[in-house]
Amino acid sequence: MSSPVKYVYAFSAALTEGEAAMKNLLGGKGANLAEMCRLGITVPPGFTISTEACTEFTDKGQAHVFELIRDEVAQGVARVEGEMGKRFGDPADPLLLSVRSGARASMPGMMDTILNLGLNDEAVVGLARKANNERFAWDSYRRFIQMYGDVVMGLKPVSKEEHDPFEVIIDMVKEKRGVKLDTDLGTDDLKELVQRFKSLIRARIGRDFPTDPWEQLWGAVFAVFESWNNDRAKVYRELNDIPQSWGTAVNVQAMVFGNLGDSSATGVAFSRDAGTGEDLFNGEFLINAQGEDVVAGVRTPQQISRLGSQRWAQLALVNEEERRSQFPSLEELMPDIYQQLLKAETLLENHFRDMQDMEFTIQEGKLWMLQTRNGKRTGAAMVRIAVEMLKQGMIDEKTALLRVAPERLNELLHPVFDTHAVKAAKVIARGLPASPGAATGQIVFFADEAEEWVKQGKVVILVRLETSPEDLRGMSVAQGILTARGGMTSHAAVVARGMGKCCISGAGAVHVDYKARTMTIGDTVYQEGDWLSLDGSTGEVFEGRIPTVEAGLSGDFGALMALTDKYKRLHVRANADTPDDAKVARNFGATGIGLCRTEHMFFAGDRILAVREMILANDEAGRRKALAKLLPMQRGDFEGMFREMNGLPVTIRLLDPPLHEFIPHDEAGQRTMANEMGVPLGKIKMRVEELHEFNPMMGHRGCRLGISYPEITEMQARAVIEAALNMKARGFEVKAEIMVPLVGTVREFDAQAKVIRQTAAAVFAERGEQLEYLLGTMIETPRAAVIADSIARQAEFFSFGTNDLTQMTLGFSRDDAGKFLPDYLRKGIYEHDPFRSIDQKGVGALVEMAVRKGQQARPGIETGVCGEHGGDPASVEFFHGAGLDYVSCSPFRVPIARLAAAQAAIRE
Ligand code: PEP
Ligand code: MG
Repeated sequence: MSSPVKYVYAFSAALTEGEAAMKNLLGGKGANLAEMCRLGITVPPGFTISTEACTEFTDKGQAHVFELIRDEVAQGVARVEGEMGKRFGDPADPLLLSVRSGARASMPGMMDTILNLGLNDEAVVGLARKANNERFAWDSYRRFIQMYGDVVMGLKPVSKEEHDPFEVIIDMVKEKRGVKLDTDLGTDDLKELVQRFKSLIRARIGRDFPTDPWEQLWGAVFAVFESWNNDRAKVYRELNDIPQSWGTAVNVQAMVFGNLGDSSATGVAFSRDAGTGEDLFNGEFLINAQGEDVVAGVRTPQQISRLGSQRWAQLALVNEEERRSQFPSLEELMPDIYQQLLKAETLLENHFRDMQDMEFTIQEGKLWMLQTRNGKRTGAAMVRIAVEMLKQGMIDEKTALLRVAPERLNELLHPVFDTHAVKAAKVIARGLPASPGAATGQIVFFADEAEEWVKQGKVVILVRLETSPEDLRGMSVAQGILTARGGMTSHAAVVARGMGKCCISGAGAVHVDYKARTMTIGDTVYQEGDWLSLDGSTGEVFEGRIPTVEAGLSGDFGALMALTDKYKRLHVRANADTPDDAKVARNFGATGIGLCRTEHMFFAGDRILAVREMILANDEAGRRKALAKLLPMQRGDFEGMFREMNGLPVTIRLLDPPLHEFIPHDEAGQRTMANEMGVPLGKIKMRVEELHEFNPMMGHRGCRLGISYPEITEMQARAVIEAALNMKARGFEVKAEIMVPLVGTVREFDAQAKVIRQTAAAVFAERGEQLEYLLGTMIETPRAAVIADSIARQAEFFSFGTNDLTQMTLGFSRDDAGKFLPDYLRKGIYEHDPFRSIDQKGVGALVEMAVRKGQQARPGIETGVCGEHGGDPASVEFFHGAGLDYVSCSPFRVPIARLAAAQAAIRE
């Protein structure tokens, strides 16, 4: 039966049916294999089974898909047989295949690769004869059984400590033979391994290892489809926002061998440095090895370029002579192949106009490219590569801006170790600087325990021999990751870089004992729970806990930020309550303060005493007396803000939180307060009782305080206006904006506006001078959004308090949502945490409506957002579309918001 839909696409020098643009159908790997063939790069021939087949598999099952694709797959294999001059299943000279998964986005959580498929007890003999290398043939066979047994037949460790059941057998045989390395095992040992592996599979799975190559092939193809739905893949999709509906493709390809002796090798190369972004061709390879050897990190890989090799030697403390004799670069060892690889690398980078991450195999002196893709990189590398490719004329400004994921800028702003503290700290081991940043935490050896410890409030460093996709959640909660094995392309290194998390891999001096739960370095034994520090930028492992400091920023970062201003329409302000924060925000490019929460100033120094005196006062006169003490302090605060933001707007919000937040709730605290203020403890207790609310978030807060106690509003308005006049007199350009919080009716705003305007007028009269200022409101209740037109007739600006607006629109308490939101996210009821990324359909629709109504009632009204969403890239894009003037976020998120705003404008 032939299906009207095409599911299988060939790629080879002779016939290529796909291309790079077909990623949705062929997955990233399949589409790029096809593209490489089109570019004339040497790729082992093969074919890709489309993602549509995977969707059919998920929807309708295995038997259905088998019927759909059987003939096309048979044709595909026949074509590969023709090109390679071998037959699949031929015992005399077998064609061997690799089977790899390949979704649209790279997904380490899925089944990855099966190599040497097609081997059985007869074919292994044929292969040995053809290759004239018996050891190679049996080694290929035992690797095949190992991989197939694990990923297709599902043979897993029975205990945490077992680690890998096949490796346990290998270790036993090595011990019996008295050898250390896999490569020391002889042909007979490998034959023994094959027998033992098969017995193990039979004993644990209850089925024989399949001998028919076609059965092997179909088993592998369906295992790839199955793996799309395994737990690890689901977790990865969840963490990376990849839709379930995409499915994965399957790539079936002729095997080439990197383990046919010393003129064979396998490796991974990057067209630029994935850690720093430096424009340096780099990578790693292993002589006489297969691809999984590089990833598994059991042997120390060699560097591709001479320069890379020299740098590696410096870090690994290997001298030049030893390096050249034992770890020479590919450039030195196989100069011709190196030149071919360099040519392919340049061709691919120029073609894709992005940093490429490539896999290759050298079989007896012939280079084969196995894969290319846009490489994962650190945040710092993203910025540097984008800016340098722009300078090199490879991409335009808009592309450069779109190349950097705003959230990843976080990594550039990441802490590094305090330089003094780190000088005093003891380096106990060195590994590869797999992913930069500094991390300090307590040692934990198992990923699930890392999660538990973090839940208990601890900070952890996950220490492992190596990591696997099962460890993903544990890795994501750890401060940093240390592995004893593995190169720069090991699982730990690649995943940590993707997460922007500090990681050191391949620290060979670290001996991990999972059973004893210890890490031994030299003679020193470290227990779980001991403190450890990692510098992911240098690869140094330190004993103990080292304090961290903020990172310095590169010129490339500045260049990228400057570029954002050319394209973005949204302004980016900062939420800052102190002159110091305002300064940081300005340095990061904030063009104003969008929210100064005045209550934060109430806690500083001894002013809390005056605040409490006001709260305890029995009448207005008592409150005014206390407020008079606060006035000069607030005025001073505002003067500092106006000084730092000279020429830029500063939005100051009137007191917002309920008064009980300023009084201690515990007996000891109340006693101290009673002593300090010279009032009886009973009076304090009574006031606390009076101020108690069942739901303070919906209680006596926001403008409701000013309605009850207008004298508070009066004092704050006076402080703002006096500070503004004072700074103006000192030559500063002051742009004050006074903001009334939590308004729900026009009358609330009117009442507060009246107090503010009268106070300002009184100050102007006293001083005999005037000053322009804006008087506006927050929109943070749904009612305010609905009547935004009426409010806009009175208020000169709107600032959306999307934290409260989310709370009140969804009916989710900001304080209590943490208890149930994780369930909601897991069950997909909400796709994102609505307090982090704006709920566009609900809260977002209110914002859009209010902006529209506000603009109608007061054309040109200034509108902004000052909730947490102002620093979330997806929300920023939404606010851009909603036509707001600015977003305001915490100072450290200002660069993220600037980039997100530029991207929103470019994507429009
Ligand atoms: C808001 O509600 O979004 C807001 C900025 O105010 P706060 O977080 O102080 O309530
Ligand atoms: Mg609020």
